[in-house]
Amino acid sequence: MPIGQNVRCATATEVAEVIALARRKGLACAVRSGGHCFAGRSSTGDIVIDVSPMRAVSVDGDSATVGAGTRLCELYRSLAEHDRTVPAGCGPTVGIAGLTLGGGLGILGRSRGLTCDNLRSATVVLADGRTVDCDERRHADLFWALRGAGGGQFGVVTSLTFRIGPAPPATTFHLTWRPADAVRVIGAWQEWAPGGPDELAASLLVTVDGATMFGTMLDTESTTATLIGDFVARAGAEPLSAVTRHLPFHDAKRDLDRAADAPTGHTYSKSGFFGRRLPEETIAALVDHLTGDRVPGQARELDFTPWGGAYNRVPVDATAFAHRDALFLLKHSVTGEQDSARRWLAGSHASVHAWGTGGVYPNFPDPDLTDWATAYHGPNYPRLQRVKARYDPAGFFRFHQAIRPGDAR
Ligand SMILES: Cc1cc2nc3c(=O)[nH]c(=O)nc-3n(C[C@H](O)[C@H](O)[C@H](O)COP(=O)(O)OP(=O)(O)OC[C@H]3O[C@@H](n4cnc5c(N)ncnc54)[C@H](O)[C@@H]3O)c2cc1C
Repeated sequence: MPIGQNVRCATATEVAEVIALARRKGLACAVRSGGHCFAGRSSTGDIVIDVSPMRAVSVDGDSATVGAGTRLCELYRSLAEHDRTVPAGCGPTVGIAGLTLGGGLGILGRSRGLTCDNLRSATVVLADGRTVDCDERRHADLFWALRGAGGGQFGVVTSLTFRIGPAPPATTFHLTWRPADAVRVIGAWQEWAPGGPDELAASLLVTVDGATMFGTMLDTESTTATLIGDFVARAGAEPLSAVTRHLPFHDAKRDLDRAADAPTGHTYSKSGFFGRRLPEETIAALVDHLTGDRVPGQARELDFTPWGGAYNRVPVDATAFAHRDALFLLKHSVTGEQDSARRWLAGSHASVHAWGTGGVYPNFPDPDLTDWATAYHGPNYPRLQRVKARYDPAGFFRFHQAIRPGDAR
Protein backbone atom coordinates (compact mmCIF):
# COMPACT_ATOMS: atom_id res chain seq x y z
CA MET A 1 0.00 0.00 0.00
CA PRO A 2 1.47 3.41 -0.93
CA ILE A 3 2.40 5.68 1.96
CA GLY A 4 2.48 9.46 1.76
CA GLN A 5 -0.14 9.71 -0.92
CA ASN A 6 -3.81 9.20 -1.68
CA VAL A 7 -5.32 5.81 -1.12
CA ARG A 8 -8.51 5.65 -3.11
CA CYS A 9 -11.02 3.48 -1.25
CA ALA A 10 -14.09 2.00 -2.92
CA THR A 11 -15.61 0.23 0.11
CA ALA A 12 -15.82 0.50 3.89
CA THR A 13 -13.67 -2.65 4.11
CA GLU A 14 -10.87 -0.94 2.18
CA VAL A 15 -11.11 2.08 4.47
CA ALA A 16 -10.81 -0.21 7.52
CA GLU A 17 -7.71 -1.88 5.98
CA VAL A 18 -6.02 1.50 5.50
CA ILE A 19 -6.83 2.55 9.06
CA ALA A 20 -5.43 -0.77 10.38
CA LEU A 21 -2.22 -0.31 8.39
CA ALA A 22 -1.85 3.30 9.56
CA ARG A 23 -2.32 2.26 13.18
CA ARG A 24 0.23 -0.56 12.89
CA LYS A 25 2.81 1.82 11.45
CA GLY A 26 1.91 4.79 13.65
CA LEU A 27 0.93 6.93 10.66
CA ALA A 28 -1.61 9.75 10.59
CA CYS A 29 -4.60 9.69 8.23
CA ALA A 30 -6.46 12.56 6.62
CA VAL A 31 -9.87 11.96 5.04
CA ARG A 32 -10.85 13.41 1.67
CA SER A 33 -14.10 13.61 -0.23
CA GLY A 34 -14.20 16.63 -2.59
CA GLY A 35 -10.82 18.01 -1.43
CA HIS A 36 -12.04 21.60 -0.90
CA CYS A 37 -11.28 22.10 2.81
CA PHE A 38 -10.24 25.77 3.27
CA ALA A 39 -7.74 24.70 5.96
CA GLY A 40 -6.17 21.90 3.91
CA ARG A 41 -7.28 19.23 6.39
CA SER A 42 -7.92 16.68 3.67
CA SER A 43 -4.43 17.03 2.21
CA THR A 44 -2.22 16.54 5.24
CA GLY A 45 -1.48 13.33 7.10
CA ASP A 46 0.84 10.48 6.15
CA ILE A 47 -1.98 8.78 4.30
CA VAL A 48 -4.98 10.42 2.66
CA ILE A 49 -8.05 8.18 2.70
CA ASP A 50 -9.78 9.34 -0.45
CA VAL A 51 -13.39 8.18 -0.72
CA SER A 52 -13.96 9.54 -4.23
CA PRO A 53 -14.55 6.09 -5.78
CA MET A 54 -17.71 5.82 -3.64
CA ARG A 55 -20.09 7.73 -5.87
CA ALA A 56 -23.28 5.68 -6.16
CA VAL A 57 -26.58 7.50 -5.66
CA SER A 58 -29.79 5.54 -5.17
CA VAL A 59 -33.27 6.94 -4.61
CA ASP A 60 -35.99 5.20 -2.65
CA GLY A 61 -39.17 7.24 -2.14
CA ASP A 62 -38.27 10.35 -0.18
CA SER A 63 -34.75 9.09 0.68
CA ALA A 64 -31.50 9.11 -1.28
CA THR A 65 -28.45 7.07 -0.27
CA VAL A 66 -25.27 8.68 -1.48
CA GLY A 67 -21.67 7.41 -1.63
CA ALA A 68 -19.40 9.70 0.40
CA GLY A 69 -17.25 10.60 -2.62
CA THR A 70 -20.15 12.06 -4.59
CA ARG A 71 -19.73 15.67 -5.78
CA LEU A 72 -22.63 18.10 -5.55
CA CYS A 73 -23.10 18.35 -9.32
CA GLU A 74 -23.38 14.55 -9.57
CA LEU A 75 -25.85 14.41 -6.70
CA TYR A 76 -28.06 17.14 -8.14
CA ARG A 77 -27.96 15.46 -11.56
CA SER A 78 -28.98 12.07 -10.15
CA LEU A 79 -31.79 13.56 -8.08
CA ALA A 80 -33.03 15.63 -11.03
CA GLU A 81 -33.82 12.37 -12.83
CA HIS A 82 -36.42 11.80 -10.09
CA ASP A 83 -37.48 15.47 -10.04
CA ARG A 84 -36.13 15.63 -6.48
CA THR A 85 -33.42 17.55 -4.67
CA VAL A 86 -31.72 17.99 -1.32
CA PRO A 87 -30.87 21.32 0.31
CA ALA A 88 -27.12 21.70 -0.27
CA GLY A 89 -24.54 24.15 -1.53
CA CYS A 90 -23.28 25.56 -4.78
CA GLY A 91 -19.77 24.69 -5.95
CA PRO A 92 -20.30 21.77 -8.34
CA THR A 93 -17.16 19.87 -7.30
CA VAL A 94 -17.64 20.25 -3.54
CA GLY A 95 -17.98 16.84 -1.85
CA ILE A 96 -21.32 15.98 -0.25
CA ALA A 97 -19.53 14.38 2.72
CA GLY A 98 -17.37 17.37 3.66
CA LEU A 99 -20.27 19.77 3.10
CA THR A 100 -22.78 17.77 5.19
CA LEU A 101 -20.44 17.08 8.10
CA GLY A 102 -19.83 20.83 8.56
CA GLY A 103 -23.48 21.88 8.05
CA GLY A 104 -24.27 22.71 4.42
CA LEU A 105 -25.87 26.03 3.46
CA GLY A 106 -27.57 26.70 0.14
CA ILE A 107 -30.55 28.18 -1.66
CA LEU A 108 -33.07 25.83 -0.03
CA GLY A 109 -31.58 26.29 3.43
CA ARG A 110 -33.91 29.01 4.65
CA SER A 111 -36.92 26.82 3.78
CA ARG A 112 -35.59 23.28 4.41
CA GLY A 113 -32.59 23.71 6.71
CA LEU A 114 -28.95 22.74 6.48
CA THR A 115 -27.86 19.71 4.49
CA CYS A 116 -27.05 18.01 7.80
CA ASP A 117 -30.59 18.74 9.05
CA ASN A 118 -31.78 16.51 6.20
CA LEU A 119 -29.42 13.63 7.01
CA ARG A 120 -31.30 10.49 8.04
CA SER A 121 -28.42 8.08 8.62
CA ALA A 122 -24.75 7.51 7.85
CA THR A 123 -22.28 4.63 7.66
CA VAL A 124 -18.96 5.31 9.36
CA VAL A 125 -15.67 3.41 9.68
CA LEU A 126 -14.31 4.13 13.15
CA ALA A 127 -10.72 4.42 14.35
CA ASP A 128 -10.84 0.84 15.71
CA GLY A 129 -11.83 -0.49 12.27
CA ARG A 130 -15.49 -1.18 13.06
CA THR A 131 -18.10 -0.09 10.53
CA VAL A 132 -21.26 1.28 12.15
CA ASP A 133 -24.58 2.59 10.87
CA CYS A 134 -25.87 5.54 12.85
CA ASP A 135 -29.16 7.42 12.97
CA GLU A 136 -31.57 8.76 15.62
CA ARG A 137 -31.75 5.29 17.25
CA ARG A 138 -28.43 3.56 16.51
CA HIS A 139 -25.28 5.29 17.80
CA ALA A 140 -27.47 8.37 18.21
CA ASP A 141 -24.66 10.36 19.86
CA LEU A 142 -22.37 9.78 16.86
CA PHE A 143 -25.22 10.71 14.51
CA TRP A 144 -25.76 13.92 16.51
CA ALA A 145 -22.05 14.78 16.26
CA LEU A 146 -21.83 14.12 12.51
CA ARG A 147 -24.44 16.79 11.88
CA GLY A 148 -22.41 19.97 11.81
CA ALA A 149 -19.20 19.56 13.84
CA GLY A 150 -17.03 19.55 10.71
CA GLY A 151 -15.50 16.66 8.80
CA GLY A 152 -12.74 14.24 9.71
CA GLN A 153 -13.45 14.21 13.47
CA PHE A 154 -15.00 10.85 14.39
CA GLY A 155 -14.38 8.39 11.56
CA VAL A 156 -14.56 7.95 7.81
CA VAL A 157 -18.10 8.34 6.51
CA THR A 158 -18.67 6.03 3.55
CA SER A 159 -22.37 6.56 2.87
CA LEU A 160 -25.06 9.13 3.72
CA THR A 161 -28.84 8.84 3.49
CA PHE A 162 -30.82 12.05 3.08
CA ARG A 163 -34.43 13.12 3.17
CA ILE A 164 -35.12 14.46 -0.31
CA GLY A 165 -37.99 16.61 -1.55
CA PRO A 166 -39.51 18.18 -4.64
CA ALA A 167 -37.31 20.38 -6.84
CA PRO A 168 -39.43 23.55 -7.07
CA PRO A 169 -39.21 26.01 -9.96
CA ALA A 170 -37.40 29.19 -8.95
CA THR A 171 -36.93 32.77 -10.08
CA THR A 172 -33.26 33.73 -10.17
CA PHE A 173 -32.23 37.35 -9.80
CA HIS A 174 -29.02 39.24 -10.37
CA LEU A 175 -28.71 42.96 -9.59
CA THR A 176 -25.69 45.24 -9.56
CA TRP A 177 -24.99 48.64 -8.00
CA ARG A 178 -22.16 51.14 -8.32
CA PRO A 179 -19.50 51.28 -5.55
CA ALA A 180 -20.93 54.52 -4.17
CA ASP A 181 -24.16 52.67 -3.28
CA ALA A 182 -22.48 49.79 -1.42
CA VAL A 183 -23.11 51.16 2.11
CA ARG A 184 -26.80 51.72 1.45
CA VAL A 185 -27.20 48.32 -0.22
CA ILE A 186 -25.51 46.46 2.68
CA GLY A 187 -27.61 48.40 5.20
CA ALA A 188 -30.87 47.49 3.46
CA TRP A 189 -29.80 43.89 2.71
CA GLN A 190 -29.12 43.00 6.35
CA GLU A 191 -32.73 43.85 7.25
CA TRP A 192 -34.42 42.53 4.14
CA ALA A 193 -32.67 39.26 3.22
CA PRO A 194 -32.55 37.47 6.61
CA GLY A 195 -36.08 38.66 7.47
CA GLY A 196 -37.66 37.82 4.10
CA PRO A 197 -39.88 34.84 3.33
CA ASP A 198 -38.25 31.41 3.77
CA GLU A 199 -38.40 30.94 -0.01
CA LEU A 200 -35.99 33.86 -0.52
CA ALA A 201 -32.23 33.20 -0.76
CA ALA A 202 -30.49 36.50 -1.54
CA SER A 203 -26.70 36.63 -1.28
CA LEU A 204 -24.76 39.88 -1.47
CA LEU A 205 -21.26 40.20 -2.85
CA VAL A 206 -19.39 43.49 -2.49
CA THR A 207 -16.10 44.23 -4.26
CA VAL A 208 -14.24 47.40 -5.23
CA ASP A 209 -16.36 47.37 -8.40
CA GLY A 210 -19.67 47.62 -6.55
CA ALA A 211 -22.37 45.42 -5.03
CA THR A 212 -24.07 42.40 -6.59
CA MET A 213 -27.15 40.76 -5.11
CA PHE A 214 -27.99 37.37 -6.55
CA GLY A 215 -30.05 34.37 -5.58
CA THR A 216 -33.41 32.69 -5.96
CA MET A 217 -36.99 33.08 -4.87
CA LEU A 218 -39.14 29.94 -4.95
CA ASP A 219 -42.06 31.76 -6.52
CA THR A 220 -43.22 33.44 -9.71
CA GLU A 221 -41.29 36.13 -11.53
CA SER A 222 -43.89 38.79 -10.66
CA THR A 223 -43.81 37.99 -6.90
CA THR A 224 -40.04 38.12 -7.04
CA ALA A 225 -40.09 41.45 -8.88
CA THR A 226 -42.38 42.91 -6.20
CA LEU A 227 -40.04 41.72 -3.43
CA ILE A 228 -37.01 43.13 -5.20
CA GLY A 229 -38.84 46.41 -5.83
CA ASP A 230 -39.33 46.63 -2.06
CA PHE A 231 -35.61 46.06 -1.54
CA VAL A 232 -34.59 48.74 -4.04
CA ALA A 233 -36.96 51.23 -2.35
CA ARG A 234 -35.49 50.43 1.07
CA ALA A 235 -31.93 50.79 -0.19
CA GLY A 236 -32.78 54.05 -1.96
CA ALA A 237 -30.31 53.10 -4.67
CA GLU A 238 -31.28 52.30 -8.26
CA PRO A 239 -29.43 49.23 -9.60
CA LEU A 240 -27.21 49.55 -12.65
CA SER A 241 -28.66 46.27 -13.93
CA ALA A 242 -31.38 43.86 -12.83
CA VAL A 243 -32.14 40.50 -14.42
CA THR A 244 -34.73 37.94 -13.28
CA ARG A 245 -35.48 34.56 -14.87
CA HIS A 246 -38.05 31.93 -13.94
CA LEU A 247 -36.49 28.50 -14.39
CA PRO A 248 -36.87 24.83 -13.51
CA PHE A 249 -35.01 24.21 -10.23
CA HIS A 250 -31.95 22.54 -11.69
CA ASP A 251 -31.45 25.25 -14.34
CA ALA A 252 -31.80 27.90 -11.62
CA LYS A 253 -29.14 26.11 -9.60
CA ARG A 254 -26.76 26.06 -12.56
CA ASP A 255 -27.43 29.73 -13.21
CA LEU A 256 -26.49 30.50 -9.64
CA ASP A 257 -23.35 28.36 -9.65
CA ARG A 258 -22.11 30.56 -12.48
CA ALA A 259 -22.97 33.77 -10.56
CA ALA A 260 -21.08 32.49 -7.49
CA ASP A 261 -17.84 31.62 -9.29
CA ALA A 262 -15.02 31.64 -6.76
CA PRO A 263 -12.13 34.08 -7.35
CA THR A 264 -9.07 32.51 -9.00
CA GLY A 265 -5.70 32.29 -7.23
CA HIS A 266 -4.95 31.40 -3.62
CA THR A 267 -7.65 32.88 -1.42
CA TYR A 268 -7.22 33.99 2.19
CA SER A 269 -10.49 34.28 4.08
CA LYS A 270 -12.06 34.90 7.47
CA SER A 271 -15.71 34.69 8.34
CA GLY A 272 -18.19 34.98 11.14
CA PHE A 273 -21.87 34.89 12.03
CA PHE A 274 -23.82 38.02 13.00
CA GLY A 275 -26.92 38.04 15.18
CA ARG A 276 -27.63 41.78 14.97
CA ARG A 277 -27.44 44.43 12.29
CA LEU A 278 -24.30 46.42 11.69
CA PRO A 279 -24.71 50.15 12.38
CA GLU A 280 -24.28 52.48 9.43
CA GLU A 281 -20.89 53.83 10.57
CA THR A 282 -19.55 50.26 10.90
CA ILE A 283 -20.74 49.43 7.39
CA ALA A 284 -19.09 52.64 6.14
CA ALA A 285 -15.79 51.64 7.81
CA LEU A 286 -16.02 48.14 6.30
CA VAL A 287 -16.58 49.55 2.81
CA ASP A 288 -13.82 52.17 3.25
CA HIS A 289 -11.42 49.38 4.15
CA LEU A 290 -12.56 47.40 1.12
CA THR A 291 -12.00 50.22 -1.34
CA GLY A 292 -9.10 52.10 0.32
CA ASP A 293 -5.31 51.60 -0.04
CA ARG A 294 -5.58 49.45 -3.14
CA VAL A 295 -2.77 46.97 -3.76
CA PRO A 296 -2.02 45.96 -7.36
CA GLY A 297 -2.94 42.33 -8.07
CA GLN A 298 -5.14 42.06 -4.98
CA ALA A 299 -8.83 41.08 -5.32
CA ARG A 300 -11.01 41.73 -2.26
CA GLU A 301 -14.50 40.48 -1.59
CA LEU A 302 -17.19 40.71 1.10
CA ASP A 303 -19.67 37.87 0.81
CA PHE A 304 -22.91 38.13 2.83
CA THR A 305 -25.11 35.02 3.20
CA PRO A 306 -28.58 35.31 4.75
CA TRP A 307 -29.39 33.10 7.73
CA GLY A 308 -32.67 32.87 9.70
CA GLY A 309 -35.61 30.80 8.41
CA ALA A 310 -35.31 27.01 8.86
CA TYR A 311 -31.62 27.31 9.80
CA ASN A 312 -32.74 28.89 13.06
CA ARG A 313 -35.78 26.72 13.76
CA VAL A 314 -33.61 23.80 14.95
CA PRO A 315 -32.62 24.03 18.64
CA VAL A 316 -28.91 24.62 19.19
CA ASP A 317 -28.47 21.27 20.98
CA ALA A 318 -30.52 19.19 18.51
CA THR A 319 -27.47 18.66 16.27
CA ALA A 320 -23.78 19.49 16.63
CA PHE A 321 -24.25 22.59 14.45
CA ALA A 322 -24.24 25.44 16.96
CA HIS A 323 -25.10 28.54 14.88
CA ARG A 324 -28.88 28.64 15.15
CA ASP A 325 -29.45 32.23 16.21
CA ALA A 326 -27.68 34.16 13.47
CA LEU A 327 -29.06 36.70 11.01
CA PHE A 328 -26.29 36.42 8.46
CA LEU A 329 -22.83 35.13 7.72
CA LEU A 330 -20.07 37.40 6.40
CA LYS A 331 -16.97 36.06 4.66
CA HIS A 332 -14.07 38.39 3.87
CA SER A 333 -11.83 37.01 1.09
CA VAL A 334 -8.73 38.28 -0.65
CA THR A 335 -6.31 36.97 -3.24
CA GLY A 336 -2.82 38.29 -3.98
CA GLU A 337 0.57 38.62 -2.31
CA GLN A 338 0.43 36.95 1.12
CA ASP A 339 1.57 39.68 3.55
CA SER A 340 -0.56 42.49 2.15
CA ALA A 341 -3.51 40.12 1.64
CA ARG A 342 -3.36 39.00 5.26
CA ARG A 343 -3.06 42.60 6.44
CA TRP A 344 -6.16 43.60 4.52
CA LEU A 345 -8.04 40.55 5.77
CA ALA A 346 -7.19 41.20 9.43
CA GLY A 347 -8.33 44.83 9.11
CA SER A 348 -11.57 43.95 7.36
CA HIS A 349 -12.43 41.28 9.92
CA ALA A 350 -11.52 43.55 12.85
CA SER A 351 -13.73 46.36 11.54
CA VAL A 352 -16.92 44.34 12.21
CA HIS A 353 -15.88 41.57 14.59
CA ALA A 354 -17.30 43.23 17.72
CA TRP A 355 -20.78 43.01 16.20
CA GLY A 356 -20.61 39.27 15.50
CA THR A 357 -21.80 36.32 17.59
CA GLY A 358 -18.20 35.03 17.77
CA GLY A 359 -19.39 31.94 15.88
CA VAL A 360 -17.52 30.62 12.83
CA TYR A 361 -18.97 28.22 10.25
CA PRO A 362 -17.14 24.84 10.57
CA ASN A 363 -17.12 24.53 6.77
CA PHE A 364 -15.10 27.79 6.55
CA PRO A 365 -12.31 26.80 8.98
CA ASP A 366 -9.76 29.44 9.92
CA PRO A 367 -6.41 27.98 11.10
CA ASP A 368 -5.53 31.27 12.86
CA LEU A 369 -8.45 31.10 15.32
CA THR A 370 -7.30 30.65 18.90
CA ASP A 371 -10.77 30.33 20.48
CA TRP A 372 -11.70 27.75 17.82
CA ALA A 373 -13.61 25.34 20.09
CA THR A 374 -16.12 28.04 21.09
CA ALA A 375 -16.11 29.67 17.66
CA TYR A 376 -16.99 26.46 15.74
CA HIS A 377 -18.97 24.53 18.34
CA GLY A 378 -20.31 27.01 20.93
CA PRO A 379 -22.11 25.27 23.81
CA ASN A 380 -21.96 21.90 22.01
CA TYR A 381 -18.20 21.47 22.50
CA PRO A 382 -18.28 19.52 25.82
CA ARG A 383 -20.76 17.01 24.35
CA LEU A 384 -18.62 16.69 21.22
CA GLN A 385 -15.65 15.88 23.45
CA ARG A 386 -17.64 13.07 25.07
CA VAL A 387 -18.58 11.65 21.65
CA LYS A 388 -14.94 11.88 20.57
CA ALA A 389 -13.90 10.01 23.75
CA ARG A 390 -16.38 7.27 22.98
CA TYR A 391 -15.63 6.76 19.27
CA ASP A 392 -12.00 7.87 18.93
CA PRO A 393 -10.56 7.86 22.46
CA ALA A 394 -6.93 7.96 21.33
CA GLY A 395 -7.55 10.85 18.93
CA PHE A 396 -6.51 8.85 15.85
CA PHE A 397 -8.38 11.32 13.62
CA ARG A 398 -6.52 14.50 14.45
CA PHE A 399 -5.55 17.80 12.88
CA HIS A 400 -5.01 21.38 14.00
CA GLN A 401 -8.27 22.44 15.77
CA ALA A 402 -9.68 18.88 15.92
CA ILE A 403 -12.07 18.07 18.77
CA ARG A 404 -10.06 16.67 21.71
CA PRO A 405 -11.39 13.59 23.54
CA GLY A 406 -12.94 14.56 26.87
CA ASP A 407 -14.42 12.63 29.74
CA ALA A 408 -16.62 9.99 28.06
CA ARG A 409 -19.38 10.18 30.72
C1 LIG B 1 -16.14 26.58 -4.77
C2 LIG B 1 -16.69 26.32 -3.39
C3 LIG B 1 -18.05 26.50 -3.16
C4 LIG B 1 -18.58 26.25 -1.89
N1 LIG B 1 -19.91 26.43 -1.70
C5 LIG B 1 -20.45 26.12 -0.50
C6 LIG B 1 -21.85 26.25 -0.30
O1 LIG B 1 -22.60 26.65 -1.19
N2 LIG B 1 -22.35 25.91 0.92
C7 LIG B 1 -21.55 25.46 1.94
O2 LIG B 1 -22.07 25.15 3.01
N3 LIG B 1 -20.22 25.35 1.78
C8 LIG B 1 -19.66 25.67 0.59
N4 LIG B 1 -18.31 25.56 0.41
C9 LIG B 1 -17.48 25.13 1.54
C10 LIG B 1 -17.51 23.61 1.65
O3 LIG B 1 -18.69 23.20 2.31
C11 LIG B 1 -16.32 23.10 2.46
O4 LIG B 1 -15.13 23.52 1.83
C12 LIG B 1 -16.40 21.58 2.61
O5 LIG B 1 -15.68 21.21 3.77
C13 LIG B 1 -15.82 20.89 1.40
O6 LIG B 1 -16.03 19.52 1.47
P1 LIG B 1 -15.20 18.59 0.47
O7 LIG B 1 -15.69 17.19 0.71
O8 LIG B 1 -15.24 19.13 -0.89
O9 LIG B 1 -13.73 18.80 0.99
P2 LIG B 1 -12.70 17.87 1.75
O10 LIG B 1 -11.49 18.72 1.86
O11 LIG B 1 -12.55 16.56 1.11
O12 LIG B 1 -13.36 17.63 3.17
C14 LIG B 1 -13.65 18.69 4.07
C15 LIG B 1 -13.49 18.18 5.51
O13 LIG B 1 -14.32 17.04 5.69
C16 LIG B 1 -13.53 15.86 5.96
N5 LIG B 1 -14.10 14.76 5.20
C17 LIG B 1 -14.23 14.68 3.86
N6 LIG B 1 -14.78 13.52 3.52
C18 LIG B 1 -15.02 12.85 4.66
C19 LIG B 1 -15.59 11.59 4.95
N7 LIG B 1 -16.00 10.78 3.98
N8 LIG B 1 -15.66 11.19 6.24
C20 LIG B 1 -15.23 11.99 7.24
N9 LIG B 1 -14.68 13.20 7.03
C21 LIG B 1 -14.59 13.63 5.75
C22 LIG B 1 -12.13 16.21 5.53
O14 LIG B 1 -11.17 15.47 6.27
C23 LIG B 1 -12.07 17.71 5.81
O15 LIG B 1 -11.82 17.93 7.18
C24 LIG B 1 -17.74 25.82 -0.84
C25 LIG B 1 -16.38 25.63 -1.07
C26 LIG B 1 -15.85 25.87 -2.33
C27 LIG B 1 -14.40 25.65 -2.55
